[in-house]
Amino acid sequence: MRIFLFLLGTFIYSTIFGQKTLLHCGRLINTRAGTVQTEMTVIIEKNKIIEVLKGYTSAAVSDVVVDLKNYTVMPGLMDCHVHLESQTSPTEYTDRFVRNPPDIAFASVAYAEKTLMTGFTTVRDLGGSGVNIALRNAINKRSIKGPRVYTAGKSIATTGGHADPTNGYRKDMMGDPGPAEGVVNGAADCYKAVRQRYKDGSDLVKITASGGVLSVAKSGENPQFTDEELKAIVTAAKDYGFKVAAHCHGAEAMKRAVLAGVNSVEHGTYMTEEIMALMKERGTYMVPTLTAGRSVADSARKPGYYPDIITPKALAIGSKLQSTFAKAYKAGVPIAFGTDAGVYAHGKNWLEFVYMHEAGMPAMEAIQAATIKAADLIGISDILGSIEKNKLADVIAVEGDPIKDITVMGKVRFIMKDGVIFKQD
Ligand SMILES: [Zn+2]
Repeated sequence: MRIFLFLLGTFIYSTIFGQKTLLHCGRLINTRAGTVQTEMTVIIEKNKIIEVLKGYTSAAVSDVVVDLKNYTVMPGLMDCHVHLESQTSPTEYTDRFVRNPPDIAFASVAYAEKTLMTGFTTVRDLGGSGVNIALRNAINKRSIKGPRVYTAGKSIATTGGHADPTNGYRKDMMGDPGPAEGVVNGAADCYKAVRQRYKDGSDLVKITASGGVLSVAKSGENPQFTDEELKAIVTAAKDYGFKVAAHCHGAEAMKRAVLAGVNSVEHGTYMTEEIMALMKERGTYMVPTLTAGRSVADSARKPGYYPDIITPKALAIGSKLQSTFAKAYKAGVPIAFGTDAGVYAHGKNWLEFVYMHEAGMPAMEAIQAATIKAADLIGISDILGSIEKNKLADVIAVEGDPIKDITVMGKVRFIMKDGVIFKQD
């Protein structure tokens, strides 16, 4: 009877007052200030942070307390460049002829869960077949586990350009893909492709402004959009509230894209000092993807891993990314964390922290790049990116102190997304 009354009381209490979750945090990273506070309590109700207090606040009888006193707590991490539909493999260039959309969909479910379970609670998916839109919807409905996804749907290229879906095909299979398939030529096509993304349900636009490493084509860096086409993309995107992410390796493509007003340069391999100054002045983000650079260079050293036309591009560009990032960081270019997951095996996104740190970025700034800066680039600073009152409860904790040892970013022991605990060791 007593137990029954206790449970009834708890139920009534939590219904009337709302059950709260109290996180007792040994160290708490304030991503806005770039500081670490010790012995803090974060109070969560439903999916929101309602209070951040000094000391370990005691809980009401119906509340849940999570002991994170031995951990470093920070906002859920964000990766601004992933591909949740695919993962590198030596057979990926032939797989596309035998895999059906449901095969891609089932594989993507596992990649999404893996991403969330390493502490990445938000990602930008920068290009796939459109399965990435269904994936986002399924995650939002809580049918499957995964990070919050902001997706570009199918990325936009020019004929024969990086992300033209029939590059390298036999001639009778190449066809002539158009704006719906993400291939444009001229300003009118650019408008149509952006409008098609809106119709498809994309959250942003991704363009491949220069050649790329992994497409079956000769150049990894040539400019592939004209000024007129870039202007059309950016203008159309603004009409629909889309941000524009521009894949660029070569300098000419990058300069055109930055001047046209894209929001981020992805990779940025051959960024010149002139472009760095332009990006700093305009607030254009660089999304470095150092993990992908390392990984493609490593894979290219394995004989037969890539088609012959790709290997020299992978070796050259893969090794150049990190040194360019080091210069761009020093020059004051805004940096948002992004890895190109899928180009390497999903779940290793945290390695980017190690490579950024190696290139001279302090640990705190690397964490800010993956939280408050990433939120700014995605356009969600009002709801995510810091642990503050009224923000959504995306919170993770790592074992140890990442400011002293950045490798602990690979030891995520607690994950909460939207107020729901997904991992608690
Ligand atoms: Zn990519």
